[in-house]
Amino acid sequence: MKAYNVTLIPGDGTGPEVTEAAKRILEATGITFHWDLAYAGASARDRFGTPTPEALFESIRKNKVTLKGPVTTPVGSGFRSVNVTLRQELDLYACLRPCKIYPDVSTPFKDVDIVVVRENTEDLYSGIEFEKGKPETKKLIELVLATKGEAVRPDSSVSLKVISETCSRRIVKFAFDYARTHQRQKVTAVHKANIMKFSDGLFLATAKEVAKDYPDIEFEDVIVDALCMQLVRSPSQFDVLVLPNLYGDIVSDLCAGLTGGLGVAPGANLGDDIAVFEAIHGSAPRYAGQNKVNPIAMMLSGVMMLRHLGETKTADRVEKAIAEVIAEGKSVTYDLKLNIANAQVVGTSQVADAVIKKLEESDKQ
Ligand code: NAD
Repeated sequence: MKAYNVTLIPGDGTGPEVTEAAKRILEATGITFHWDLAYAGASARDRFGTPTPEALFESIRKNKVTLKGPVTTPVGSGFRSVNVTLRQELDLYACLRPCKIYPDVSTPFKDVDIVVVRENTEDLYSGIEFEKGKPETKKLIELVLATKGEAVRPDSSVSLKVISETCSRRIVKFAFDYARTHQRQKVTAVHKANIMKFSDGLFLATAKEVAKDYPDIEFEDVIVDALCMQLVRSPSQFDVLVLPNLYGDIVSDLCAGLTGGLGVAPGANLGDDIAVFEAIHGSAPRYAGQNKVNPIAMMLSGVMMLRHLGETKTADRVEKAIAEVIAEGKSVTYDLKLNIANAQVVGTSQVADAVIKKLEESDKQ
């Protein structure tokens, strides 16, 4: 069996607990992983004086595959968001977030199986911001008045929403290629082009153009507010959604909520040759060290990593084991009490024990 070199970022808050649980079930498959430990976020700042040390980028670039726990971006410290920095520096332009309901999870809808493809590098997350009262902000406000004739209040802060044709094209293409290779029927481009005619308008026009190259896949577009309304009324009409960064961030949490919450929502950040697998949720610092939060989102991110590595059969086996543990409801964390009748609540590491037991049982069959 092959061995893989993988960068492992334990993360902050509850990150080390959920990554340890995911690491344990991945190792229980029999595949050998050489984990290259790297630090990001508050734990990196404490060790190296920066939340994004050079060693972190070196490890990710060298190994190409990373399993990442959630990190805390120190608030008010002047540091840029660690996640935005990673995605931009490594050009991890596609954020892939599959949202599906596992058997016996009680949710308002039975048949949600949506893949959210979020653009990861630009839009309002470009990081180009102008702070109220700064000389450059004043200059910008003067430029807007001189070129557009529009008066921006002098006490404004401004964040730039940047949408390029290049990044729109590659993310929409990614969504269509994903649909084609994963037997999906439809891609829906999400936008607000009726208001933001140039930024979202460019995203939409580019999406329509790319769609012409994929006549085998149905294409539609929908305005983001209408999408949210339709998602909470009849989500099964959607298949693959492709969205600019901000809408993608919000809508993927909404879709996670439709399928059992943040505790079961995995994700991947993908570039042309680098892949970082991480749950949607954050570091939930108030639960740190309590062996409490749900490791399943992180485990399912590990399943996505196995698929990326070409270990499809093992990925299926692990996903089945996780689905069985959820369906039994005897070893689940507190958050799934909402979704599972008579759930027996255990801690983070006990969920990993239960999944490993299922894997061992499946080995014997
Ligand atoms: P959060 O996702 O950490 O927590 C919000 C709430 O969701 C928690 O209080 C908890 O009730 C629930 N939750 C989250 N993960 C859970 C799990 N595994 N199991 C069960 N319940 C879970 O979001 P936040 O409080 O807004 O952010 C906390 C920190 O995480 C911030 O510093 C933020 O910047 C960071 N963050 C990091 C990432 C990442 O690294 N990918 C993503 C989002 C937020």
